[in-house]
Amino acid sequence: MKVAAKFKADTSKRWLTQDYNPLELEQQVRQFWIKNKVREKLEQMRVAENKGVLGFVEGPPTLNGVPHVGHARGRVMKDVRYRWKSMQSFYVPFWGGWDCQGLPVELEVERQLNVRNKRDLLEKVGEERFVAECKKTVMKYHKEWFSADQKLGVFMNHDKAYWTYLDEYIEREWRYLKRAWEQGLLGEGYYIVAYCPHCQTSLSNAEVGLGYEEVEDPSLYFKMKVKNSKNEYFLVWTTMPFTLVTDLMLAVHPDAEYAKVRVGKETWTMVKQRVEPLMQELRLKDWKVVDVVSGKALEGVRYEYPFLDMVSKQRELEQHSLVHTVVTEDFVDVTTATGVVHLAPGNGEDDFKVAQRRNVPVYAPFDDEVKFTEDAGGFAGLFARDADSVVVDLLRKKSLLVSEEMVTHEYPLCWRSHHKLVWLARREYFLWTDKINSRVVEAAEKVCYFFESPKNRFLSFLREGKPWCVSRERVWGAPLPVWTCQNCGNKELVASKKELLDRADSKPPADFELHKPWVDRLVLKCQKCGGSMKREPFVLDCWHNAGASPYARFTDEEFKRFVPFDFLTEGIDQTRGWANTLLLEYVILTGKAEPPYKAFLFQGLAQDAKGRKMSKSLGNVLEANPVLESHSADVFRFYSLWKCSPVDAINFDLKELSRRPYQVLGTLYHLHRFFMQNAQYDHFDPKRHTLKWAEENNVLKPADSWLLSKLQQAVSECTSKLETCEFNFVAEKLETFVVDTVSREYVPMARRDLWSDDPETLNRRLAVYATLWQTLRTLVLLFNPVTPFLCEYLYQNVHRVLDKTLPESVNFEDWPMADDALRNLGLEQDFSTLQQAVALTYSARQTAQLKRRWPLQKVVLVAPRNQAKALRSLEDLFLELTNVKSVGYSEELNAPHTDAEEKRWKVASEADLHVLLDTKRDSNLLGEGVMRDLARRVQALRKELGFVPTDVLDAVYLAGLDGEMRVLLEPFLSEMAGLVRAGQVHLVRDKNEVKAGWHEFSFDGKRVFVAITQ
Ligand SMILES: [Zn+2]
Ligand SMILES: [Zn+2]
Repeated sequence: MKVAAKFKADTSKRWLTQDYNPLELEQQVRQFWIKNKVREKLEQMRVAENKGVLGFVEGPPTLNGVPHVGHARGRVMKDVRYRWKSMQSFYVPFWGGWDCQGLPVELEVERQLNVRNKRDLLEKVGEERFVAECKKTVMKYHKEWFSADQKLGVFMNHDKAYWTYLDEYIEREWRYLKRAWEQGLLGEGYYIVAYCPHCQTSLSNAEVGLGYEEVEDPSLYFKMKVKNSKNEYFLVWTTMPFTLVTDLMLAVHPDAEYAKVRVGKETWTMVKQRVEPLMQELRLKDWKVVDVVSGKALEGVRYEYPFLDMVSKQRELEQHSLVHTVVTEDFVDVTTATGVVHLAPGNGEDDFKVAQRRNVPVYAPFDDEVKFTEDAGGFAGLFARDADSVVVDLLRKKSLLVSEEMVTHEYPLCWRSHHKLVWLARREYFLWTDKINSRVVEAAEKVCYFFESPKNRFLSFLREGKPWCVSRERVWGAPLPVWTCQNCGNKELVASKKELLDRADSKPPADFELHKPWVDRLVLKCQKCGGSMKREPFVLDCWHNAGASPYARFTDEEFKRFVPFDFLTEGIDQTRGWANTLLLEYVILTGKAEPPYKAFLFQGLAQDAKGRKMSKSLGNVLEANPVLESHSADVFRFYSLWKCSPVDAINFDLKELSRRPYQVLGTLYHLHRFFMQNAQYDHFDPKRHTLKWAEENNVLKPADSWLLSKLQQAVSECTSKLETCEFNFVAEKLETFVVDTVSREYVPMARRDLWSDDPETLNRRLAVYATLWQTLRTLVLLFNPVTPFLCEYLYQNVHRVLDKTLPESVNFEDWPMADDALRNLGLEQDFSTLQQAVALTYSARQTAQLKRRWPLQKVVLVAPRNQAKALRSLEDLFLELTNVKSVGYSEELNAPHTDAEEKRWKVASEADLHVLLDTKRDSNLLGEGVMRDLARRVQALRKELGFVPTDVLDAVYLAGLDGEMRVLLEPFLSEMAGLVRAGQVHLVRDKNEVKAGWHEFSFDGKRVFVAITQ
């Protein structure tokens, strides 16, 4: 009873609660970090001392909405990289940043203000109030994002965050434009741009790529009559009938053969190879090819523009010799439609280029709402896409319509407002990035993308190399700093706020900022003629705004120090977005074929549990804040990395969080609890009881060495997989190591050693603790980037309790390095043979329906020599794990012959390894089996009643067992007492004999009672 008293003394120390309660624990850790300024201290430590600087710039979230789980996943990846690199002693300027301007914010504010379109906005709200509302909105969503980062445990320094709308930022952004201006890469151009009728602004080519969707459009075949002919026509196809209003030419391929087809009384010209399929498609049976000519021969043929009566401007344009004639062009596709295309240079890029080459004037009679102007005669006032049906009706009336149906096809919509885009010739400002395309592509090729598919996607997009339209006809954005003299037309780019204010003809108001409308009120004096200069009314593409961050968010000195960045990661949609603009602007700024980032990881999209895209209209968006209020941040973090590769789309299913990911973290938690209860009891001191000490005292066993060897493997693999961003493999490695290697495999091997409290075997127990200490210490470090809350908690409540000299936070620790001296591949091989033999024994037991708890007499192992050698060397462990009394070896398999033999010996095999299990049980084995069954029930009861493993009970009483059972059990009572950690186990006939709290359970179909006294 003396020992028991010692046990009791320690039961008051419950380091970890019985259950893993992540929400509660994470709240404690969050407070611990804040109270002790752990994040700040970590940053200061690495600033003061580091083994290198790894540059970083935040891909700024747009503050026009709340973060969803996909955003949260991206932020977890950034944080994992940061914590890991910090543990490797690198200094990473992990500072925040917020994208505050541009269409996304403007449209969100328009929605809140209930404004229909831009004209409405300017008339009802006005620029000044609109700007104020935009700032309010930005601050509102900032709160949401900040809060999600706190919940997630993202260790980003938000005090150092940049805001893309501040004057200092905009001024530095202007430096890019200045560099472009100096190199002749920025200029005004009349060019075809994609234009959103709702937002009333043009968009960049990159933005167009963000919004392709399936839409319905009319598809029509119509005729253009050859001038001065009786019945000759060209057959043409289009899906945008309104462009007939701006039609100026027809184009054919010069080298293709064109057929003249007699259809009824008419002759239609189309490319020869398409005649048959087309006639079938149009369901025409009565037709005949009457002539074939080359495309070249059609050049110069005049046709009758069908709406000359309505559009007088077209009559005027016809004065040009090429207008309303056929031209030849190589880009004409002769494998679809009719091989004759109509050209509307005001509404198409190719068409526009054709007109430019031939000096044909461009005709684009549209206002800012994409309604036809007076120049469009009878079409004036109609919105372009509304003119589609008008045009179709007119063609029908004039008997020029051949067929009309609706088709669904992929068509670009505005990435913000989802309106169909229209291509228009407009006066805009362009960065002529097409001129530096080879340098841009060369720079992009130097970047590490980790995975092939996003790399190819990015490079092929960049190779398109189209000019970048950077001007936007909007309000809330960085202003374009180009000023034009109203007198002499002189243009100047002024990229300094001070210079602007110095040169302005009047003193700016106190609330002046680099935004509309204030900046537009400045009038500068022309340095050439003294005239008044006014700013071009555009703001900049918001992607230019965010893409300027490498220079704009830092000081000159920081820029030199942190750029190029070591590693950036954003969603796959940023190929055309931020990743693209960062690169373009950096090449412009430096003039070199160098990227601003060395590595870029594109993350796959976030989808719902069924694999559908998350969207407001489907109502399946999982917002990060509510999810993290009811779910553990650690479990969320682990899940979002573990579920799939970072490049793959992740199907978020919240139900899955509580399954395997929770189980993995719970196992890590309970391993610590198990370790702590035992180690504390035996006064384990990690400073004294080191692995070296264990080795010197000869108390390490093969199982310990095996675990330590596997641990080194886990360290190497986690490190290399983090390096290659294979986060799912890192999570999986951690999972199998904790759940399988430590909990399911090692602990059962060591459990019996820990069970005893014999002072004789104390050193052996201390060796197990030393092994577990080393393992758990390393594991917590490996887990820390992924699940920082749990790791800090275990670190504070277990590791630092046992070793008071450890640093204040787990984050201040060094990333573990694999110790080759502890790696033993031969031993790992032997253990895998052992595990195979154990698994085969289990399966033989299963065939014989013998529970693992029931001891058996004998097993025979049949194995090739080297495997047999391994098994012999681990024989003790084998017997213990399989619960068998003895083992024999044989080089050949002597399968049982007779019925009796077959009944007694069960065989299980895998490859060359066979197990023969003797299933015969005498009364001794049966008694021990019964005892173990009962002991297991008592163990469960102990746990239920809140005893910890180190608690020693006074006595256990068993009642309700029949006479036969009692006889079997009698010899094993003292062994049972040891197993259940009780002073004694008593069998009683009637439970009334003992006054105690009886618990009933069912045993082999009978009612059995247990009572415990302490
Ligand atoms: Zn739009
Ligand atoms: Zn001038």
